[in-house]
Amino acid sequence: MRMEKQRNGVRLVLLPLPFQGHINPMLHLANILYSKGFSITIIHTTFNSPNPLNYPHFTFCPIQDGITTQSDDSSSLNLLHLIILLNIRCVTPFRDMLAKVISDARDNKEHVACLISDGLFYFTQGVSNTFELPRIALREGGASSFVPFVLFPLLIDRGYIPIQDSQLEETVTEIPPLKVKDLPLIDTKEPEKYYKELSNLVEGTKASCGVIWNSFEDLESSPLSYLRQEFQIPFFPIGPFHKYSSSSLSSSSSSSSLLTQDQSCISWLDRHKPNSVIYVSFGSLAAITAAKFLEIAWGLASSMHPFLWVIRKGMVIDDGKECLDPPFPAGFIDNLEGRGYIVKWAPQQEVLAHKAVGAFWTHCGWNSTLESICEGVPMICMPFFTDQKVNARYVSSVWKIGVQFEGEVKREEVVKMIRGLIEGNNKEGSQIRERVLDLKEKARVSWNHGGSSYTYLDALVNFILSFEPKR
Ligand code: UDP
Repeated sequence: MRMEKQRNGVRLVLLPLPFQGHINPMLHLANILYSKGFSITIIHTTFNSPNPLNYPHFTFCPIQDGITTQSDDSSSLNLLHLIILLNIRCVTPFRDMLAKVISDARDNKEHVACLISDGLFYFTQGVSNTFELPRIALREGGASSFVPFVLFPLLIDRGYIPIQDSQLEETVTEIPPLKVKDLPLIDTKEPEKYYKELSNLVEGTKASCGVIWNSFEDLESSPLSYLRQEFQIPFFPIGPFHKYSSSSLSSSSSSSSLLTQDQSCISWLDRHKPNSVIYVSFGSLAAITAAKFLEIAWGLASSMHPFLWVIRKGMVIDDGKECLDPPFPAGFIDNLEGRGYIVKWAPQQEVLAHKAVGAFWTHCGWNSTLESICEGVPMICMPFFTDQKVNARYVSSVWKIGVQFEGEVKREEVVKMIRGLIEGNNKEGSQIRERVLDLKEKARVSWNHGGSSYTYLDALVNFILSFEPKR
């Protein structure tokens, strides 16, 4: 993609939700829209601020949210609380900043055409209404997981939620092949608050004037068409953003990373045979118990395949407290004889694109799922909460490009899964690999001239240009 240097006098204001999995797609989208001639202002919270130095062509405007990484508020363990808080604390600073951005733009003979904000920043709908500024919602997750969000009231009515242990394996007949255990819930003592947040997300998205999806038609045509009927507003499935955006001059996969990506793993991967390494990462928020950590570690070691494992700070929790160091048994690493490589944070897109990587053991965050598809890497799915559970079921049972742990993770099963996917003598594994390569090609085609995402992007640009400047 060539960056068009000529600006068109139209400025867009973008507001990402301050979590890694939300910042990445929003900044990729910013790059895409910049390449189409729009000027870009990113209003962002000081909590988990992106690094403006990585995007010299955008204007960054921080707003104070009062959340510090040291406070309890910022704990990823209380994601629900954090999202509620952000939607309260950001209202006034965001409104003030938006007023300033609109007025500065006028002074510069530009006009702000619209606000593009994360779907979970639902408070922005009310603010943009007061400015009579159109708001487009960015849904950073998939359409398939949005369907159960929309159906939550019905699922509660029909007794699927709250989930009963006796029903876990039952199919939700309204949205097959999802099982009850796949419903996008989180572990919270305050489920009512969670339901309310989902309703805010859905209603806020419905009230917007359009939705941008980081997805593509060939991947999610059926949930997209269901949602189109429900929402009756224009949809722009223009994903996968990162593939389009990474070919632009100014972006690299590390630009929007909140943590420093350890590049040393790439030279470690260089020393391995094609399709031999299992890459293990559970994203930026998920946490595991020390017991689960051990099952994973022993499973990886016993598979005898090389593995690259991202063990993020705070990822392992023991007795309710974060383990400062990964709780490996004594001598574990030495006994691997170099077969394991551990990093605190990886350049994930580069890793997945590396020919040595043969499978991705993932929590099925939407970005990770798309990134894996785009590189044709089969997945081992171990979802934790919310949309990850739906994504995992789609990976294993709809697209059939991976396998999923159906119960507790046990080391013997880990070994079986890794060998099934990585060693070429397994029929199911080979079919999975063929299907994911097919989907990779479909993703590529969607971005080519005439492809669905390419065409929707043109439609999005025209849609934005149709917003009249306010006098
Ligand atoms: N990521 C990364 N390095 C890592 C692990 C993850 O850069 O070691 C990136 C990954 O490429 C993805 C994002 O972090 O873009 C995680 O988003 P996802 O939706 O997969 O999961 P979340 O973190 O929101 O649970």
